[in-house]
Amino acid sequence: MKCYNHHDRDAFGVCKACGKGLCLECIEKQDGIVVCKDSPKCINFVKCLSILPFLSFCLLLIILFMLIVD
Ligand SMILES: [Zn+2]
Ligand SMILES: [Zn+2]
Repeated sequence: MKCYNHHDRDAFGVCKACGKGLCLECIEKQDGIVVCKDSPKCINFVKCLSILPFLSFCLLLIILFMLIVD
């Protein structure tokens, strides 16, 4: 696979948000996850992904609390 932005370069990683191949120069890492450096959309997508486990944990706590109160 070649880099999406540089067709003469080999892709070093694949964006987790949009699936494009990226060379070292185009890669941005968010918590160890590869995303497009120049795409705020992709960076935001991965940021949302990283808070998702936290949100589901909060939801679980709320459900447990409701069960106890009931
Ligand atoms: Zn590139
Ligand atoms: Zn991307």
